[in-house]
Amino acid sequence: MSDTPRPRDALYDRYMKAAAARRAHSATCTQCSPDAPRCEDGQHLEAEFKRFQDAYLARLRKQR
Ligand SMILES: [Zn+2]
Repeated sequence: MSDTPRPRDALYDRYMKAAAARRAHSATCTQCSPDAPRCEDGQHLEAEFKRFQDAYLARLRKQR
């Protein structure tokens, strides 16, 4: 285990927040399932999540 604090990472924070929001929505929404957003809110949250995921993964790839 490392005890060095991770630098603050705004993109990762937003990615995790979008993931949590998407999960929370699919858990409470009767129309949506985790992998298939069906209502307008669910589709919006899914799009946000994908956007941050793409940005985060693209940045990880660039750091290699
Ligand atoms: Zn929904």
